[in-house]
Parts: sequence; C-alpha cells; structure tokens
Amino acid sequence: MTHKTNHKLHIGSNDRVFVLTGAGISAESGLATFRGSDGLWEGERVEDVASPRGWKRDPERVWRFYSLRRKAAAAAQPNPAHLALASAERRLGDRLFICTQNVDDLHERAGSRNVVHMHGELFQSCCDSCTLEPFADTRLYEIRADHLRCECGGRIRPNIVWFGEVPFYMELILEELGRCTVMLVVGTSGVVQPAASFVHWVNQRQQDSGSSVRTYYIGPEHPANASAFTHVYEGSAGELLPRLLGDQKQDKG
Ligand code: NAD
Ligand code: ZN
Repeated sequence: MTHKTNHKLHIGSNDRVFVLTGAGISAESGLATFRGSDGLWEGERVEDVASPRGWKRDPERVWRFYSLRRKAAAAAQPNPAHLALASAERRLGDRLFICTQNVDDLHERAGSRNVVHMHGELFQSCCDSCTLEPFADTRLYEIRADHLRCECGGRIRPNIVWFGEVPFYMELILEELGRCTVMLVVGTSGVVQPAASFVHWVNQRQQDSGSSVRTYYIGPEHPANASAFTHVYEGSAGELLPRLLGDQKQDKG
C-alpha cells in the first residue's frame, strides 16, 4: 500500500517503536548512499573498500576511502529526519530504539541516545588480528597503512562491518524486534542482509503469536522488500519524518 497523506503516525503509550535507518536518512545531510550507480560507493567498487578481501589486498586504499568518509561525515550536519527521531525519543524514552546501518554519527549528533550501529562506526578503529577494544578515532590516515600497527603486530582497521562479516548487536536487535509494536524503516534499499529481513522476521512473529505490528517504510523509492510493509510512504525522510512523527501530545492512548 502506498500512502501520500499528511497524517501523523499514531504512537500510543503502550507502543514500542523499532527504527531501522539506512544511508538514505543521511542523504539530505550530503552523505552519498551507495546503491544507484552500479554498486559504486563514491566512485569505488564496494568490494575493494568494504570487504575483508579488499582490506587484505590494499589496506592503504581502504584507509584512504574511510578517511574521506570521516572527513565528509565530520563536515555534515544532522537533517530534519535525524532531529525528528531524536525528538520522538525524548517523548517516548526507551520505547524508541534505533538500529542504524549507517556508520556516520548523525543520529547521536541530533541527540538520539538509544542507537546501535549494526555495521560499526566511522569514528572508531580496531585491530584486524586481536581482540583490542575498539577505540574512538577521528584521525584521517594519509600515511601508509603499514605504519598503523597494533601492539600485537596486527593492523589497525576501521571498526566497520564489511561484506561477509557479522553485524554487531544482533542479540539486542533481535530482542527489540521481538517486542516492538511499530516498525519504522527509513532510507534503506532492502538488499543488504540481515537488515533487509527484519521486516520479514516481524511479520513471521505476528503470524506465530497473533500480535499486531504496524510496519512503515519511508523513502523516495520502493525498497526491494516493499511488499512486506503495511505502509509505504514515498518521499524524502527529511520532509516526511518530522510530519509523521510530529508533536504527539494528543496521542496518549
Ligand atoms: P543504500 O545506499 O543501498 O540505499 C539507500 C536508500 O536510501 C535507497 O533505497 C534510496 O531510495 C533511499 N534514499 C535516498 N534519498 C533518500 C532520502 N532523502 N530520504 C529517504 N531515503 C532516501 O543504503 P543501505 O540500504 O543503507 O545500504 C548501504 C550500506 O552502506 C549500509 O550497510 C551502510 O553501512 C553503508 N553506507 C553507509 C552510509 C552512511 O553511514 N551515511 C553511506 C553509504 C553507505
Ligand atoms: Zn592487535
């Protein structure tokens, strides 16, 4: 079902909202998404810069790429979509949970607190060989990746979940998927797994338990998994989210 209405979503005092965001929510902040142009992301083939193989083959190239992403993200500002989610969290408290596929920090900078980055964080690094705790890192690496060594001898790499690696926080994400009553998916093409399956898991849960969950997609195009949602709102996140989440003072029940 495609909706083009102006109305606000009803979020009652017993609702729990699971939000999944993708690259599209940061598009209006000027950060490029990566579908669209034949799997290229900022001119690079995704497998060259966002896979363990690409890392093994050319760590310098990978660091150059992520340094540019750090630079772009640091210069970007949260847009009205990030701000609307942060403001909804202030009203709903921990009944609103954000799971983002994004590696930028725009949700946090908009004021969101209850956020997990299932694909890692741009401003963190870790070691590719040992269990060194990921650490905050805003540096731009222009130097040879050879020089970026951990004490164990491994290489320091971006703390990003690359293709073929296991997403972070899956246990917590599954728990939240298991108890949400509203699911809001924003700006993701519905192809990258496992995030693309979250809506199917929620639908399966509804079938199994008879619970009812409203599932909304928000973005300018239909995602690959569009038919799984109860509602699809076509438009940009920056325009639609503030409207859909609006001030919900009267939504007390
Ligand atoms: P994607 O690039 O595959 O798809 C982007 C989606 O956003 C598309 O469906 C598009 O229609 C939609 N979109 C474009 N403009 C929009 C707008 N103004 N409002 C709402 N939606 C809009 O993104 P994905 O599904 O998130 O998968 C990409 C992967 O790449 C993720 O795993 C992510 O980690 C990574 N990535 C992250 C960033 C970031 O952190 N900002 C940027 C690019 C890629
Ligand atoms: Zn190490």
